[in-house]
Amino acid sequence: MTPYRDMLAPRCTPPGTRGRRVVEVGDLNDLTLNQERESWVESLYDVIVVGNGSAGDNIARTLGRIGKRVAVVEASHLGGECLNDGCVPSKALIDISKRATRDGMSWDQVVEAIGAIQSTVRGSDPDGGMAADGIDLFWGEATFEASTVVRIGDQVLRARDVVVATGTAPSLPPIPGLADAAPLTNRSVFKLRERPRRLAVIGGGPIGLELGQSFRRLGSEVTVFEALDRILSTEDADVSKEMTRLLEEQGMQINTAAEIKRIERVDGVVTVTTASGARAFDDILVAAGRRPQIPAGLADLGLRLNQRGYVEINGCGRTNLPGLWAAGDVTGKFQFTHYAGYQAHHIARHIVEGTCAPLPDSLVPWAIFTDPEIGHAGVTEEQARNLSVDIRIAELRAAELDWFRTTSQLDGFAKVLAEASTGRIVGAHFICARASTIVGEAALAIQHKLTVRDVASTIHPYPTASELFRWACAKLVE
Ligand SMILES: Cc1cc2nc3c(=O)[nH]c(=O)nc-3n(C[C@H](O)[C@H](O)[C@H](O)COP(=O)(O)OP(=O)(O)OC[C@H]3O[C@@H](n4cnc5c(N)ncnc54)[C@H](O)[C@@H]3O)c2cc1C
Repeated sequence: MTPYRDMLAPRCTPPGTRGRRVVEVGDLNDLTLNQERESWVESLYDVIVVGNGSAGDNIARTLGRIGKRVAVVEASHLGGECLNDGCVPSKALIDISKRATRDGMSWDQVVEAIGAIQSTVRGSDPDGGMAADGIDLFWGEATFEASTVVRIGDQVLRARDVVVATGTAPSLPPIPGLADAAPLTNRSVFKLRERPRRLAVIGGGPIGLELGQSFRRLGSEVTVFEALDRILSTEDADVSKEMTRLLEEQGMQINTAAEIKRIERVDGVVTVTTASGARAFDDILVAAGRRPQIPAGLADLGLRLNQRGYVEINGCGRTNLPGLWAAGDVTGKFQFTHYAGYQAHHIARHIVEGTCAPLPDSLVPWAIFTDPEIGHAGVTEEQARNLSVDIRIAELRAAELDWFRTTSQLDGFAKVLAEASTGRIVGAHFICARASTIVGEAALAIQHKLTVRDVASTIHPYPTASELFRWACAKLVE
């Protein structure tokens, strides 16, 4: 049951118009000439959603299921980056790489297994169940003729509200020769025909490390080049240091503060030249940031972008153009599937209610699926110090708890930060097995202003990974 069912109001859906699927250019011209008509007559759709990634899909289905007339325009494939080139294939590769060598899997079999997992997640319905949710699906690249008028080839659609949810693409850093060296990105790496024996990874962020470590497990020699002075620069410095140590122990080479002067591919061999010399690789994977995909036409209409080139939105998700909203990665906020979904949920609500209240401040936790995993909730030690928050910190090694001992997953630790005066938890960072799961409890504690005493006095089942959070908190109870 959708939470919006009670809010359903026939705001711009005229009786008898539902089910009209394709709108021709002529229809639009007739309608625009007839300015006298009521606004619902002009709005052939209540909402057009451009892009079917995590954000767009969420908004479209929420509105479609409560009876709004919704059109979705998608340029390449349903499910966006997460399903096709991001979360799903990367998490599948991570999992498969843990058993591929033991199971004697070839690279071809790994690629096939990733594809099979994507197919399962995608489901068998070619329109992803859109029709069942009352949504009209249009394939093609949307361009904008006005802020609420969208063209797809020779079809033109109009709506009262339009949402841009067009996501991002991998960006290439301006390294001389890189673009001509045909580097791999997340869009090509899962379809690679051969596993490189020597792989260079540009970028020591979550994507570079998750994928780099998977290739290492499959037998590749992996060298990471990170321009900053540490990998995982958004993580707590202690977590980043521990991960560097563990990855090096696993045989990866981590070069921080790396200044790549030139990259060249000659006869299939890629040469990476830095200040300390030139090294040869069989392939190069770039995971060094993203760039927004802004649909054509919006710049001419005066769409306001922020300094980084992402769509600027106000608190509730509106852009500066009338009737135009934006959601998900294209807005340059937290670039996670769960955040895109959260943003989408609020935008859908405001479209239904015709309101515009700021998105409630909510903690955004995240996980990195390296081995061991990383879980991040709240502020890091550096951020707390910059904010001049008087904090107390506790660290507890995973190896001190029985679940980690009994499963022989001894690496890593939990680090908890609490406000000194109140004991309120303000940050929790995990680098250990199951960190991606434990972090949910920490997010709940921080979001709801719990203290270290609250968590420490809550019985957790034995033996579990979640006890790590409890006993780290207990170290701070006075
Ligand atoms: C390798 C990798 C791993 C990741 N792992 C995780 C993870 O584990 N957990 C997590 O939370 N997040 C992860 N992410 C991030 C996650 O994929 C994104 O945050 C999420 O996909 C954003 O959703 P979105 O809807 O904003 O955009 P997208 O998913 O990028 O969808 C945008 C859609 O718009 C379409 N489009 C673009 N332009 C047009 C146009 N003009 N007309 C019509 N359609 C258009 C595109 O084809 C695309 O389908 C990962 C990303 C990558 C690259």
